[in-house]
Formats: sequence, structure tokens, C-alpha cells
Amino acid sequence: ATTTMRTVSLPAGEKIPILGQGTWGMGEDAGRRKNEIMALQLGLDLGMTLIDTAEMYGEGGAEKVVGEAIAGRRDEVFLVSKVLPYNATHNGTITACERSLQRLRTDQLDLYLLHWRGSTPFGEVLGAFDELVRTGKIRYWGVSNLDISDMQELVEFPDGQNVATDQVLYNLARRGIEYDLQPWCRQRHIPLMAYSPIEQGRLLDHPQLKQIAAQHRATPAQIALSWLLRQDNLNVIPKTGTPAHVKENRAALDIQLTEQDLQQLDRAFPPPPRKVPLEML
Ligand code: NDP
Repeated sequence: ATTTMRTVSLPAGEKIPILGQGTWGMGEDAGRRKNEIMALQLGLDLGMTLIDTAEMYGEGGAEKVVGEAIAGRRDEVFLVSKVLPYNATHNGTITACERSLQRLRTDQLDLYLLHWRGSTPFGEVLGAFDELVRTGKIRYWGVSNLDISDMQELVEFPDGQNVATDQVLYNLARRGIEYDLQPWCRQRHIPLMAYSPIEQGRLLDHPQLKQIAAQHRATPAQIALSWLLRQDNLNVIPKTGTPAHVKENRAALDIQLTEQDLQQLDRAFPPPPRKVPLEML
């Protein structure tokens, strides 16, 4: 029996699936393409209908894979893409979005993120996002890789409080946001989206994770995901191009970590005792 998909509420009130699917690395190898599409489609079948991509991934290749995977199923998907900072001038943002829409074979993104902060002033990027919302090309906008000081600056802009998410590096081995960014966002009901939730695979061999996994008849990937999935206000977007891993990741929602598990994980991966600047991959 699989638990129902839990949701995260956007500031606008809309609920999106807590567990989504990343796409970094997709669309780079023709030999893997079929599996990538199958994996994404299986994920949709299992309710992981939040798909995260970016113009950067495979230089548009990942968006093309996503476009193929969601063809005929666009309505099921909460589709997220990102603009590169060096494209993020006013007109550059609009045309980058239009190129993404073409590759994704759709006429609207659900959420469009500034991939990281570049040299364009926030006001100019927000102006472009606003125009994209008004013309119906995107529904919501958000940011990625912004630490607390950048977020504080952002929400001072007239439209800044409408930021739908900050997508950041967050997993057991990267807990810095717990010190300041996460409580700050929680207080303002701004969701966070945890990227690289299994540290791009580097968490899979960790002895503590292996031990807890064995106790739950689960895998280390599932323990790393379930540790994130127990939190509120947080989306989790593992990437996999392997259909069997999609099922495994979905099943992480069924795992209930015990108090003892959580204490052991805190010892193996201590929470931050002081400010740690936001890291990015
Ligand atoms: P993840 O932590 O999601 O790890 C992905 C790796 O783990 C892949 O090699 C995948 O291999 C493997 N994997 C996935 N599930 C399993 C499993 N159940 N068992 C074993 N191995 C598994 O790293 P990502 O960096 O890809 O992060 C996820 C997504 O977040 C990205 O794809 C992207 O969409 C987003 N992201 C955003 C960034 C930003 O700057 N905003 C930066 C980095 C990521 P396989 O495919 O073979 O399963």
C-alpha cells in the first residue's frame, strides 16, 4: 500500500506535490534517453507530478526530454524551469522563457526560477517575471540559490513577497539552511525546494544511512529522502533516469523515521551550530 502524495502549499494557496522529479543530466546521452522518458512518465503515474528542469541542463536537452515525456499529459504536471543569470535581463528573460516553452512543447510554465543571482538587478528580473505572468507564459516565479541576505533584499521589492520558492542545496550532509534561511522562510510561509537531496549519490555509501536503511528494509537513498520528506514547507526533487529508482524514491514517502533514527542521523550529520554560507552545486 502506498501512502497518498503529500503536498506543499504555495503562498498563493495552490498545493503542489511534496516529492517531485529533477532532470539535471538528462538529455545529454542519446543512449539513456528512452529510460529518462520512461522514468519521468512512471513518476507522473506515481504522483510525482512536479518536474524541475532548466535551460542550462544539457543546454536545452533536458527540457526536450521533459517535453517528450509530458506530451499529451501537460495538465497533470506542475512544470518548473529556470533562467540562467546571464540571460536574465528584462528582454533576455522573456526570450529565454519562450525558448524553454518551445523545447518543452507547452505554452505555459507553472513556475519559473532565477537559477542563481547574477549581475541583473532584482528589480529588472522581477519586472520580466511580472510581464511573463501578465502574458500568461508563467503562472508563478521564484528563485534558486539565494541565501538569507539575498532573500531579505528580494522581499523588499513591491512584488518580492510573491516569491513562490527558493530552490536550494539541502540534504543530510548540507544542513546549513536550518540555522537561518529555513526558519526565516517558514515564518513567511515561503516554501523551500531541496535540490540534490541524495547529494548526487554521494550519500548512498554512508554507514549510518546503510544501518538505518537495513532496519527499515529500505535503501540509503530512501532514508535520505524520507529525512527531508518529514519536514513541512519543503519540496524534494531527486533526479533519476532509472525507472526502478523512481519507484524506490516514491516509496520513501511510506517510511516513518523513529526518534532514535533521527537522533542517530543528527550525530552522523550534525545540524549547524552557527551560520554557514549557502553552498551550491
Ligand atoms: P540527486 O541528489 O537527486 O542525485 C541524483 C543521482 O542519484 C543520480 O546519479 C541518480 O542516478 C541517483 N539516484 C537517484 N535515485 C536513486 C536511488 N533511489 N538509488 C540510487 N541512486 C539514485 O542530485 P541532483 O543534483 O540531480 O539534484 C536533483 C535535482 O535538483 C536536479 O536534477 C535538478 O533538477 C535540481 N538541481 C538544481 C540546482 C540549482 O542550482 N537550482 C542544482 C542541482 C540540482 P540514476 O539516474 O541512475 O538513478
